[in-house]
Amino acid sequence: MTEGYHIDDELPQRSYDGRLMRRLLSYTRPYRNSMLAATGLLLLLSVLNNITPLLIMRAVDRYINNPARALLETDNTADAEAINAVMAVDARGLTLVVAALGALMIGQAVVRYSQVLLVSVIGQKCMYDMRLELFNHIQRQPLRFIDRNPVGRLLNRITNDIEKIQQTIVGGVVAVISDMLTIVVVLFVMLYVNWQLALVALCPVPFILATSVIFRKYAQHSFLEARRKIARITAWMQEHISGMAIVQLFGREAFAYQEFKRRNAAHRDEWLRQVRNFAVYFPTVEFFSSLSTALIILYCGVIFMMTGAEQSGLASVGTIFAFILLAERFFGPIRALADRYNLLLEAMAASERVFTLLDTAPEIQDLPGSLEAPRFEGMIDFDGVWFAYDEESVSNGKETQWILRDITFHVQPGEHVAVVGHTGAGKSTLLNLLARFYECQQGAIRIDNRDIRDYQLRSLRKQIGIVLQEPFLFSGTIEANIRLGNAALTMERIRECAAYVNADGFIERMPGGYQYHVGERGGNLSTGQRQLIAFARTIAHDPAILALDEATSNVDSETEHLIQKAVEKLLRSRTSIVIAHRLSTIRNADRIIVMHHGRIRETGDHEELLARNGLYRTLYELQYAEQTG
Ligand code: ADP
Repeated sequence: MTEGYHIDDELPQRSYDGRLMRRLLSYTRPYRNSMLAATGLLLLLSVLNNITPLLIMRAVDRYINNPARALLETDNTADAEAINAVMAVDARGLTLVVAALGALMIGQAVVRYSQVLLVSVIGQKCMYDMRLELFNHIQRQPLRFIDRNPVGRLLNRITNDIEKIQQTIVGGVVAVISDMLTIVVVLFVMLYVNWQLALVALCPVPFILATSVIFRKYAQHSFLEARRKIARITAWMQEHISGMAIVQLFGREAFAYQEFKRRNAAHRDEWLRQVRNFAVYFPTVEFFSSLSTALIILYCGVIFMMTGAEQSGLASVGTIFAFILLAERFFGPIRALADRYNLLLEAMAASERVFTLLDTAPEIQDLPGSLEAPRFEGMIDFDGVWFAYDEESVSNGKETQWILRDITFHVQPGEHVAVVGHTGAGKSTLLNLLARFYECQQGAIRIDNRDIRDYQLRSLRKQIGIVLQEPFLFSGTIEANIRLGNAALTMERIRECAAYVNADGFIERMPGGYQYHVGERGGNLSTGQRQLIAFARTIAHDPAILALDEATSNVDSETEHLIQKAVEKLLRSRTSIVIAHRLSTIRNADRIIVMHHGRIRETGDHEELLARNGLYRTLYELQYAEQTG
């Protein structure tokens, strides 16, 4: 059973990979300065964050729990004036501390704002670069690549995967750096303020680390499993929504519903498992961080009791306050790290998929020393061409399913050749090879006595006009569809071309004429109209060689007439190979090639071939005879 998704869409169970991370981070290289600034701001933020507990410590020890005042207050001989003086100092000091705290908060907000902004900008820029690179890369791939990679999967790379990577760069990596910095800074501050107390406060750390390691193991599994399940649901749903007509036609709704229910439940259960993991993990870590607070208080309590005074120098009330706050700042990031690890893993998987795609070198590219093709005379030679779509079967010596076998023919400049044969005989494949969409495994194809591999791809394809059975139109205006980005074409020339292939009549009747908006894939035009536009497009780009796959679909007789006339004009003054379905095209051809199971069975003109009483005659009687009327 096919699951409708692809193995490499799943997230592999992998761990942190430094090599991938380095490659990922290399995208931030052009923004190195911003990245450095962002990291600097993060460090500043961690430091600012930890000043608060220190200020509070100072406030408590100096002004709230002022030892001098306490001494005065307990001293019966002290006069009220002295006490008041000390109190005034306390009030001033406290005000200063509060003001400092306020300033600190504002400072923190400003730094955080700049930092978030900077990192987001870097993230977006990296994503932009990466998408551009990926799109450009996909564009340069041969059609064989598109055969192997469903469009949905490629789209997923360009959209979702890159989005995930971006989120990680912004959310994951930066957050992890920030967490690490915070941990280090807090540790430093703790040790600086009171190293004995610091050691006490950190006692629960090994337990937290152990819990995190165990949690990570379970959470990672559930996390990947849940993602995998949602990927399957999405793929399955996509298939069933696109195939809705079949589902409804065959009354498969109930079955589809049950199947969806099953998949949906599996996904829900996986998430519930994950929720349970979190439900155990967070309270456990919470417990250990509270334990740290308890230990701080316990330790100080014992010290106070033993020394009989808090001013023993071992710990002050302010220090207790500061440590409780610091401990919180210390355990928060540790708690978050386990969670962030998941994010990181997901981005690792996404980046691995993107990089794998980026690393597939285009199989068909310009060979070293290839030359810009001059305007072709139009002589074509197929010389002992063997071709199979399944490339691997050729190289690994397994039984190869040859689609073209030993094809040899010669076309004179300006000659019109019609190719006929049953469906699957390999006719379209001939055209695909001519434009080097695929490469033959044996033999050679030459244009004007030069192997087509000697020409630069672009210059070769520019001169071969291929019109497919189902012409592809992009969403946009009719004008844009004829122009296809060629700014050199004037509007006048576009009108001329349309008129030449009889497309002007219907175009001008459309609302807006040449500015009429064609729907996606030309949805709001009839097949015949789409063909005429495709003809105009081909004429406008004036190829030296025309490769036409005539449409088989029925169009109304008026359009049929227009198309027939247009085809005749298209063929004028250029070499052409037409996969013919119209009797008129076949009759007008200088030569007919009859293909059968990838081989050339017969060649000759219409009369000759009919007289031969072979495959052509059978085909003629099956397919074309009725067109004579
Ligand atoms: P025709 O145009 O004569 O109908 P084609 O050249 O389209 O025949 O196809 C010849 C054979 O090649 C068919 O068996 C078809 O299944 C196979 N084929 C066509 N295109 C592909 C492709 N992209 N990948 C694999 N096989 C293909």
